Amino acid sequence: MFLGILKLMKETAYKCPLCLNENKPNFMGYRLNKAQGIFPGRNYSDSQKVVCCKRCKLIYNYPQVFPQSNIFKEDDSLLDLTQVSAEAIKATETYTDILNFLKKDAKILPAAKVLDIGSGIGRVAYALKQNGYDVQAIEPKKELYDFSVQNNFIAKENVINKTFDEVEFEKESFDFIFLEPLNHFTDPHRAIQKTLVWLKPGGYLQLETVNSRWFYKRALHFFYKSTFTKTVPYTSALRKPFHVCEYSAKSFKVYCELNDLKLINLNSHPCNTYIKIKWADKLMQYLMRRFDSGAEMSVIIKK
Ligand SMILES: [Zn+2]
Repeated sequence: MFLGILKLMKETAYKCPLCLNENKPNFMGYRLNKAQGIFPGRNYSDSQKVVCCKRCKLIYNYPQVFPQSNIFKEDDSLLDLTQVSAEAIKATETYTDILNFLKKDAKILPAAKVLDIGSGIGRVAYALKQNGYDVQAIEPKKELYDFSVQNNFIAKENVINKTFDEVEFEKESFDFIFLEPLNHFTDPHRAIQKTLVWLKPGGYLQLETVNSRWFYKRALHFFYKSTFTKTVPYTSALRKPFHVCEYSAKSFKVYCELNDLKLINLNSHPCNTYIKIKWADKLMQYLMRRFDSGAEMSVIIKK
């Protein structure tokens, strides 16, 4: 009896991993542990429960199912990048949006210390280094780390092959921190707070993540509902690339307000619309930007 009550208390002890709200989240449905397709059916035996925080609209799995360190180590969604030409990547991916922000808006000039968390094959780190910044990087995936060093995207002494949880840096030592992707973190509040400790007061943190309000995803959700399935297209807890939390613009607005942080920039990137008619493609891209419903989101926070 007593154990039963304890178990019940444990099950009802909700806490949003972003805004820490302890109110019971809204139940959204189930995410199957396989490709769902257009007609996912009504068998939810192999699935994860998906909920949405009432306060910050974060969409996450309850309970969380996969240990954080496994997510970092097992995600191989970017391994394809090691098959393409390093020189071609260096020439085409210049990250002018990040550089323009640093130089023009933030007035963070070359020689400033910057940190790239989840540097992958080192594309952002390379662009920052080429523009004179003092870059430090972390990449947990061994294959991506090796590729970045062997192809001179970043010098070996400037990149650490460890997970986010395994590293520590000096307090207030970076002017700018780039963290991608936030949707891999089961405990985003802890991750953001840990990162902010390393950031100088007045420094900037840029977060990249998937957008839960992506137009196509919402359309699919609506379609699922019309077929009377409880399956939802949100998160992918046990399937690569392990999206364990999905954010909307509101998630960051609420988070910054609660934590006394300044939200400097919130961009919703449309990505590929898959529409072949040019004017329709442009219209869709405009709408996604206008209504924060692009596939990915880029957020800049000032400490
Ligand atoms: Zn929340």
